Parts: sequence; structure tokens; C-alpha cells
Amino acid sequence: MDCDVLVLGGGPGGYPAAIRAAQLGAKVVCVEKESELGGTCLRVGCIPTKAWVQTAYAMKEAAESFAKFGVQVGEPQLDFGRANEWKDAVVNQMTSGVATLFKANGVEWVRGVGRFKDPNTLAVDGAEDVTFKSAIVATGSSPLRPPIDGIDSRLCVDSTALLAQREVPRRLAILGGGVIGCEFASIFHRFGTEVTVVEMLPRLIPMEDEDASKELAKLFQKRGIALHLEQQCKKVEERDGGLVVHFGEDQTVEADLLLVSVGRGPNVRDLGLEEIGVDLDPRKGIAADEHRRTTVPHIYAAGDCAGYWQLAHTAFREGEVAAENATGHDAVVDNRAVPRPIYTDPEVAAVGLTEAEAREQYGDDVAVGRAPWVAIARAVMQDSTTGWVKTIHETRYGELLGIVMVGAHVTDLIEAGVVAIDAEATIETVADGMAAHPTLSEAIKEAGLVGLGRPIHLPPRRRAAARA
Ligand SMILES: Cc1cc2nc3c(=O)[nH]c(=O)nc-3n(C[C@H](O)[C@H](O)[C@H](O)COP(=O)(O)OP(=O)(O)OC[C@H]3O[C@@H](n4cnc5c(N)ncnc54)[C@H](O)[C@@H]3O)c2cc1C
Repeated sequence: MDCDVLVLGGGPGGYPAAIRAAQLGAKVVCVEKESELGGTCLRVGCIPTKAWVQTAYAMKEAAESFAKFGVQVGEPQLDFGRANEWKDAVVNQMTSGVATLFKANGVEWVRGVGRFKDPNTLAVDGAEDVTFKSAIVATGSSPLRPPIDGIDSRLCVDSTALLAQREVPRRLAILGGGVIGCEFASIFHRFGTEVTVVEMLPRLIPMEDEDASKELAKLFQKRGIALHLEQQCKKVEERDGGLVVHFGEDQTVEADLLLVSVGRGPNVRDLGLEEIGVDLDPRKGIAADEHRRTTVPHIYAAGDCAGYWQLAHTAFREGEVAAENATGHDAVVDNRAVPRPIYTDPEVAAVGLTEAEAREQYGDDVAVGRAPWVAIARAVMQDSTTGWVKTIHETRYGELLGIVMVGAHVTDLIEAGVVAIDAEATIETVADGMAAHPTLSEAIKEAGLVGLGRPIHLPPRRRAAARA
């Protein structure tokens, strides 16, 4: 089989690349080994986890807010079987949607495991070889397992196995307080599970703005999620049908399952890449420039196998850019405004620089403004006043550098910050533009006003004299 553009992998890096290349007139073949398209994100990542987040959110609303709103439904009960049916139906709709889009765009899907034979040929297990002019590698990533005594137990699961559970564990220990660990902690605690998080570093979501990490830890603890920060897991033992997880200085926690969520590594082995001259690092993945070009000029790479971010939306964009370059156009990826959503309760979302990064780059020429949700009417009427929005700007030209948000629905709101940072907006644009009233967006404007020292819906900052 011959084509112009071969795409290896049908996830968020691969499927948009295949569609975009076909839109640009190329004959495209996408080789994907699983029985559904969509990759980790659609099958066992973003989509099923956020379907469970929706169930968890409904449980919370029913337990804590419905009666306040004047809606009496009684004590909410989790029907985990129905929650899984809903999750599976959403996954099915999304993955089959990609197959439909392939047909509509004339992309040919070949099912099988691919491996490069030479710089212009891919061998496919169980199918004929595919020869190509350009290729886009988008093989994704897989969960890492640290070398800890006993961690090979069948009760130590990764995110894929946790998503396949048909019963809610009574006690769940989570190794790793990063994004995936925190999202599952939040979900399962709402499902009634006793949740314990063990994290080696001093804070949850360690790459995120420190205020957001602290706020999330505070609110998790208030919810009753046990956190053990700066503690290393030493050993895991199976005992009485469950697990004993040993960490720190002789501390233990008993659990029915241990989620191992300590990070993901790129899928770059056994693809024949090194043999055809593509440079790669087994930990960081394939080396690719902002055009997504590898060290072999007609071979491109997109997504988790070649990326710093390990996010679906960075993979989408990298795939589009790779496809445009592979078909003779000139496109680059701009990473200044990558949104960083975390679907915990409360949600966390950020874009641009964290406050610490801004202070590192701009020294004292940095101002922040913070608007708490309690000052925003829509949040009050939604019974969601936990958290805040923070703007970060530099004070010489007023350029907006970052936005960090903690609270309900902030993963949807962050797009306003993405557009503002992409457009190199100033803090005045954020603060002096109009936000529809009453909406949650008003918190972004108000944070901007706080940053400029002239809030309307918050008392003025106390004067130095008053503080003295
Ligand atoms: C639990 C979880 C939750 C997540 N939630 C979010 C979220 O909310 N938002 C977000 O932005 N990101 C989220 N992510 C991350 C997101 O899923 C990934 O960043 C994204 O899937 C990366 O896309 P990709 O195309 O690079 O890789 P993948 O989605 O992994 O796709 C790679 C594809 O390549 C195929 N493949 C690999 N090797 C071969 C081969 N040799 N031959 C044929 N096919 C092959 C694989 O089968 C797979 O389908 C989450 C991840 C997890 C695990």
C-alpha cells in the first residue's frame, strides 16, 4: 500500500494529523493497533475519567446543594454500574466519532502494530507494508512503574486498570499526587472510598502554581482525603486479601487497591526509529523541533511520544502542525498559551507563567490580583464559592503573564486566559473589558481590577498605615 502521509497511532497526536493532511489533499493512511481510534485520551484517559468526574459532581450537588436550591431528592446513592454504563457510552460515542471522521475525510485506517523497516516503509503486523513520502509518529505514552518491592501485585493498578473496575474499592491508596493521582483521589472520595495519597514531593500537582497546590491540598484535607506529602513509598505487601503500603519512616496504610500514578513514559521502543536515524531519548521521547520535525526531515512526531506536556490538546495542535509541514506548508507550534486543566473538585486551571516563574523572569516588576469566588454573584447562587482567580502581570507594560484559577467550572473558563495570552493582552484589557453579568467570567475581570489596585466588588486593600 502506498500513501503520501503515514500516521502511526490514532490518538490525539495522530488522528487530527491524519484528518488535517487529508484536508490538504494528501493520501493518508493511519496505522493504529487498538480496535478503536482515539488513543489513550478517548479510550482510557481524558474521556472516561471526566465521565466519572461528572458522576462525582452530580453526587456532590445532590448531597450538598440541591436541598439549598429547593430541590428535594433524598440521600444520593451511587449506582456504579450505571455510572460505568454512562462512561462506556460516552467513550463509544467519541471513539466511533473519530472513525466516522476518518471515513468522511478519506483517511484509511489500517489496524495493526507498525514498525519502520526503512525511512519510507512501515511494516504492519497482519497487514501489508505501507510505503510513504512523509510519516508522523504519534505512538503516545504508557504508565511508569517505579522499582518498589511488591509493586507487581495485581492489586497495584495503573489508571487504565482503575478505570476498568466494576466495584468501588472501600480503601484506595494513591502513589503520586500529580494530575492523574489527584483526579482519581477526588472522584473516588466522592464515590465513598477512603482515599490516601502518598507523594514524594512537598506538594500536590508539583508543577502548578504554588498557591493552587496549597489550595487543593487544603480543600482535599477538608474533604477528608488523607495526604502524606514528602513521603516515599518503600514497600507494598499483600495481606488478608488487601494491601499494606509502607511509606516514610515506618508509616503504613491499608488499602484494597493501590493506584500507581507516578508519571508516563514515551512509547518509542521497538518502532525501528533509531535504525532509520530518528534521534530519541528513552525517557523524554523523540526529539522534534517546533515544526514537529525529527532528525529525519520527512519524519515528524506529535503528542506524548515526543512532548514535554503529555496533554491531549498539545498533541492535537502538534498533530495539525506536523500534518501541515508534512504536506509542504509552513507551520509552528507556539507553546506560550497552553492551558493546564485539572478536573479535581475543586477544579484547577492555569495558563502562561506561574507566579514563581513570573517573579523569576521579571523580578519585582510583577503584580498579582486575586478575586475570591465569594465576591462573584453567579458562584454564590451556584453554591460554589470555594477558590479564586489570580491574574499575574508585569508592571512595566502591563502584559498579562498568567492566570491561575481554583474553583468550579474553571477548566472551561481558562480559555479566556488562553486567548488573552495568545493575543499578548494587557491587564487593562482583562480588567476594563466587559464580562457578562452574572457569570463566572466576572471573576477574571475582578482579579484584573485587583491586580491594578482598583477592585469594585472587594474592599480596597488595607493601607500600610492600617496594617501597622
Ligand atoms: C487517566 C488519564 C487522564 C487524562 N486526562 C487528560 C485530560 O483531562 N486532558 C488532557 O489534555 N490530557 C489528559 N490525559 C493525557 C492524554 O490522554 C494524552 O496526553 C494524549 O492521549 C496523548 O495523545 P497521543 O496521541 O500522543 O497518545 P495516545 O493517546 O496514547 O495515542 C497513541 C496511539 O498510538 C497507538 N500505537 C502505539 N504504538 C503503536 C504501534 N507500534 N502501532 C500502531 N499503533 C500504535 C496506541 O494504541 C494509541 O492508540 C490523560 C491521560 C490519562 C492516562
